[in-house]
Amino acid sequence: MQPNILGDVTVSSCDQDSRRMAKRVVIVGAGQAGARVALGLRSARFSGSITLIGAEPHLPYERPQLSKEMLTDPTRSLQFIKAVEDWRAAEIDLRLGSAVIGADPKARVVALAGGEELPYDLLVLATGTIARQCAELVGLTVPVHVVRTAEDAAAIREKLAQGGKVLIVGGGIIGLEVAAAATKTCDVTVIEAGARLFERGIPAEAAAHLERLHAENGVRFRYGVRPVSSVGRDTTLSDGSVESADLVIVGIGVEPPRGIAEMFGLPKESPGLRVNDNAMTECSGVLAVGDATEQFSRCHDRWMRIETWANANQQAAAAVATIMGTSQPAAPPPWFWTDQYDMNMQVVGDGIGEETVLRGDPASGRFTVVALRGGEIVGGTTINASKDMAALRRLAGRGVQLKRSIIEDPSNSLKQVVSA
Ligand code: NAP
Repeated sequence: MQPNILGDVTVSSCDQDSRRMAKRVVIVGAGQAGARVALGLRSARFSGSITLIGAEPHLPYERPQLSKEMLTDPTRSLQFIKAVEDWRAAEIDLRLGSAVIGADPKARVVALAGGEELPYDLLVLATGTIARQCAELVGLTVPVHVVRTAEDAAAIREKLAQGGKVLIVGGGIIGLEVAAAATKTCDVTVIEAGARLFERGIPAEAAAHLERLHAENGVRFRYGVRPVSSVGRDTTLSDGSVESADLVIVGIGVEPPRGIAEMFGLPKESPGLRVNDNAMTECSGVLAVGDATEQFSRCHDRWMRIETWANANQQAAAAVATIMGTSQPAAPPPWFWTDQYDMNMQVVGDGIGEETVLRGDPASGRFTVVALRGGEIVGGTTINASKDMAALRRLAGRGVQLKRSIIEDPSNSLKQVVSA
């Protein structure tokens, strides 16, 4: 179980004195998590100054739209979290197209690329992550894109509209959402390094369902291969075969931006900025929220990055509570959803656990797989079964034990178990 402190280091980032004296909050990163901290502070009647620094030129926006509606609907423009006048009315100082390039955490100052120095009482790191690139694709002369920014989505949409062959590297959440969009106009091949889809995130039954659904829509899958070299339109894979394409999309995971941890003396060997349930880092006066953080998941029983929309909101609320000195309910288990074609898949907690229990018939297109560890429910995956998911979100990671026979029978309502 999670220690109350971060490893061996006592958390000191938001000591009571800092909080009482906090007049200036600076938030680095104007994505969903950063924006929600800024707006949440104003909703909580924080009366000091709030500066929100974002590297992208756009007003803050949420990213789920990039791999969904924005790829398929030519009329769809980028949806912002708030209009510019709302940010003004909230007296939140937006610094867009602006990057933090240095920091002095002792003096509590950050430096912007243009030379300006911004002092803070409390700093919130909400940098998000950057998409991993695939170095083996440098020889390609056709467009190669990741899906991380509004510009990426706009470029992919334009290219998809022209038809042709699309090669998707990575059969994860991004790769599959793009595949679902691309099949409307293109021939699509997905190459996945693992032996099946989402090997580490969802149970085999759900992966098989996703594969079937995509195959019915024309997607071709190649498993256990990765790019090794490329030239012109051709990508050579690790088994020696060659895939030609007019467009290549890379969705092979993300990582925190380099250099941020070092600026604040935080451990750089960690896969993320380590925070406790209150969004505090080990660095005094510095909190962190969103995809770039590493936190303890009770469902997984390990420290990890939780790169989801729901986590950005939840950690933003935790940071606001910490800054305001109010109480914050315990963090809910990690949760995400994806919509592909007419299917909705949701995953809560650890979708795999030590063992899984199938509930319902996959052939019906609607089923649930519950994950157990030590007999306790630690997560679950639902395919078009949102009622089960509503219950599982309340059961996962709470030490609840249920007999396999009760879970297996879909006529037993999981909701009733929750309310019992
Ligand atoms: P991902 O879900 O981690 O999937 C990447 C996949 O690519 C993994 O299956 C991985 O296999 C495989 N892979 C890695 N290197 C490869 C290579 N060289 N060749 C072929 N396959 C390779 O990452 P993602 O799809 O890039 O998505 C990550 C982002 O999606 C997160 O940042 C999160 O913010 C976002 N997200 C979106 C939604 C949503 O919109 N619905 C939900 C959750 C998260 P291994 O696992 O074997 O490495």
